[in-house]
Amino acid sequence: LKSDLLIEGGTVVTVDAKNTVMLADVLVRDGRIATIAPPGAAAPPPGTRVLNARGALVIPGFVQTHVHLCQVLFRGFAEDQPLLEWLSEYIWPFEGAHDEASIAASARLGIAELLLGGTTTILDMGTVAHTDVLFEVARASGIRYVGGKAMMDKGHIRPGGLRETTTESLTSSLELARRWHGAADGRISYAYAPRFILSCSDDLLRRVAEDARTVGCMIHTHSSENPGEIEAVRDAYGVDNITALAQRGIIGDDVILAHCVWLTSEEQRILVESDTRIAHCPSANLKLASGIARIPELLDAGLTIGLGADGAPCNNRLSMFTEMRAASLLQKPRLGAEAMPAMRVLRMATIDGARALGLDHEVGSLEVGKRADVVVVDAARPHLSPRSDPATMLVHAAEAADVRDVVIDGRWLVRDRQLVDVQLDDVLDDAERQIDVLLERASAPDGLMATRSFARRARARQ
Ligand SMILES: [Zn+2]
Repeated sequence: LKSDLLIEGGTVVTVDAKNTVMLADVLVRDGRIATIAPPGAAAPPPGTRVLNARGALVIPGFVQTHVHLCQVLFRGFAEDQPLLEWLSEYIWPFEGAHDEASIAASARLGIAELLLGGTTTILDMGTVAHTDVLFEVARASGIRYVGGKAMMDKGHIRPGGLRETTTESLTSSLELARRWHGAADGRISYAYAPRFILSCSDDLLRRVAEDARTVGCMIHTHSSENPGEIEAVRDAYGVDNITALAQRGIIGDDVILAHCVWLTSEEQRILVESDTRIAHCPSANLKLASGIARIPELLDAGLTIGLGADGAPCNNRLSMFTEMRAASLLQKPRLGAEAMPAMRVLRMATIDGARALGLDHEVGSLEVGKRADVVVVDAARPHLSPRSDPATMLVHAAEAADVRDVVIDGRWLVRDRQLVDVQLDDVLDDAERQIDVLLERASAPDGLMATRSFARRARARQ
């Protein structure tokens, strides 16, 4: 699985500290980058497999710092809703209706899309139950996975499958962390995932802050996504979101907060002083009408910020190319055309995301000694012609379908646009079967059932 590999003849976009771009061969040995050398100079040992990257762009695998594999199956079934309705009327009932087969189908579908689009590392938030299934699927797939079960011990609108007591939530999280943190030769880690402050009791949050640090796991939650949420937090706690989280210990360089769209200057100061990490999800923020995060200002203040697609039902893609382009375009009308240049965005999609997850010593750039998470992007495409600055090509013109090869830990997982170990047709067929039974179990509204019924008949004709 991890035999030597020579990635030969590409334009290597290292995303190192100097943003070095060079024509080079990359030699992978024992899952790590052994050499980056001028073409022909790498001296591969006999028997080394060759990945021909001539003319292509060779880049670090993308790091998505906020996704929900468990929601991929709901893609297209929760349209045109603002956040709190989207959650309570669609996403939570659907998550509550998952069983092991449907969540496995959702995770396999999501990982197939992520790998084929060049994403090699994800920070995932599960649902309340079936978390072992997510880890099993991630382990089998080869993706670099940081994840954890959603914790929600509070709130009266939770459907059956999402109800848990404080003790149940903490006990199952700790058991999962003990089982999975550091698994698969370190490719898999656990992250405590209280869903958001409104669905977590004070006791739960305080215990999460203690337990996660005892086990050495990150803490991953949502914060400050939408004005309705901000108002509800102020009503409940008398202070703003970040202040309330800080009072409960959910702050620091081991905490990653998805969104942070609505922050006061005081909250921003708390985040900077504590070096708390942010996951920016521009497409989801637009689609749920949440708002525009002030990312350039937060970057200038010194915060570490990664990018993520968030859930498939609020995007509806899991493509880092889409997120990079959105992250750049989103800021320009507000701050001017010079805001968010391509290289800045490419760093967020790779090394900054790795840093947000505490993995920047291992992945996020192409440098000797790091783990070989490498993506080859075909540049011989009309929309990538004529050739120009590689960061500009990647952020503004390239798309997921341009990804040709993907290597994680030296394992060649996508070869010539095909998943090596997985029959994609089986993954798609399984998703089609599982969404039907899940919508039934969730007693989905008639309108959705009609949409799905038509879609099923249309697909049967293919
Ligand atoms: Zn989310």
